[in-house]
Amino acid sequence: MQKVGILGGGQLGRMLLQSAANYPVETYVLENDEDCPAAHLCHHFTKGDIKNFDDVYQFGKGLNALTIEIESVNEDALEQLEKEGVKIFPKPAALRIIKNKIAQKEFYKQAQIPTSSFTTTQNLAELKTKEDFVPAVHKIGMGGYDGRGVQIIRTIADIDKGFDAPSVLEKLVSIHKEISQIVAVNEKGETALFPSVDMVFNQDLNLLDYQISPADLPKEILWKVEAVSLKVARDLKSPGIFAVELFIDKNGDVLVNETAPRVHNSGHHTIEANFSSQFDMLWRIILGYPLGNTSAIMPAAIVNLLGADGFNGEPIYEGLNDLLKMENVFVHIYGKKRTKPGRKMGHVTILSRDKIDLIHATNKVKQIVKVIST
Ligand code: ADP
Repeated sequence: MQKVGILGGGQLGRMLLQSAANYPVETYVLENDEDCPAAHLCHHFTKGDIKNFDDVYQFGKGLNALTIEIESVNEDALEQLEKEGVKIFPKPAALRIIKNKIAQKEFYKQAQIPTSSFTTTQNLAELKTKEDFVPAVHKIGMGGYDGRGVQIIRTIADIDKGFDAPSVLEKLVSIHKEISQIVAVNEKGETALFPSVDMVFNQDLNLLDYQISPADLPKEILWKVEAVSLKVARDLKSPGIFAVELFIDKNGDVLVNETAPRVHNSGHHTIEANFSSQFDMLWRIILGYPLGNTSAIMPAAIVNLLGADGFNGEPIYEGLNDLLKMENVFVHIYGKKRTKPGRKMGHVTILSRDKIDLIHATNKVKQIVKVIST
């Protein structure tokens, strides 16, 4: 039986492990928090820091393969393990490109992959010399996740909000839609595309409102999304799952925003809505089985369950009973021990053949359920 390790024990690791139960595989998780969502679902749990060379190296030695649930891992240790014969999904070379937003943008440019035009800045003083580039978005090169490393610079007055560290300064795109396209690549270089996902943002709160798949796109735009995403995944020259996030701008142009070299939040609905889920697909890739069928069984929407404002502590899922009365609604609770405002505590997948129904149901779900605490 193959021994496969996951770096990180959050909700993505947990869902990967739920899928692993279908395969002949012995699973290992490395994570600092013994109470993390994945800790009790793996065969072997190791407490340790995924950013630390020795912790990652010792954990990976002797395993057949390793994968990640987050980019902020020690890639030097992964590179060393790769040299010693451990298979890494994604390859450390691909991870290195993606981990640094400067390297990632340069990769798109070199590969002639459409992306917003950009320049780089080493520090705040240099940013201040780039007034001509505003309106723009400043993104820190390393270490910024979940919007924390991104500042929108609409006017010159905003320039002080920028980062005093190596960063990318990209032109502000007039976004019509944000799309996620998940691509699977196996070791033979064979690929499979999942149906694309519409990521719908709440403009007032600047928060992801819900996601819906397949995305509502004219054919010509969908073809571009698929072609561009396939090129990103192929040019990274690594097997794995790649979530390519794209903008469709107001002119109908397709631009790559960024890529995650791993299973992704925008693919959670594939557990119920597609024949092979993104998690199932990653196991097929790691274990060397044929790629799965990515076709949608039914259109789906995802609503995230976020910790409600004003509540910190042991979570209570208010309204769960009513939620479970809804038809074709699937609840995923991540098992986090504490809730806090805005923390991702779970998600709900809704299936329906009718897109209008789906949108109604997402609103209903948001009204019914609330994550509070004792
Ligand atoms: P993170 O990796 O932290 O999620 P992103 O690069 O995805 O950061 O940016 C977060 C959000 O900021 C995007 O979803 C998008 O709404 C907005 N954004 C990012 N880059 C641009 C851009 N060049 N033009 C306009 N909006 C952008």
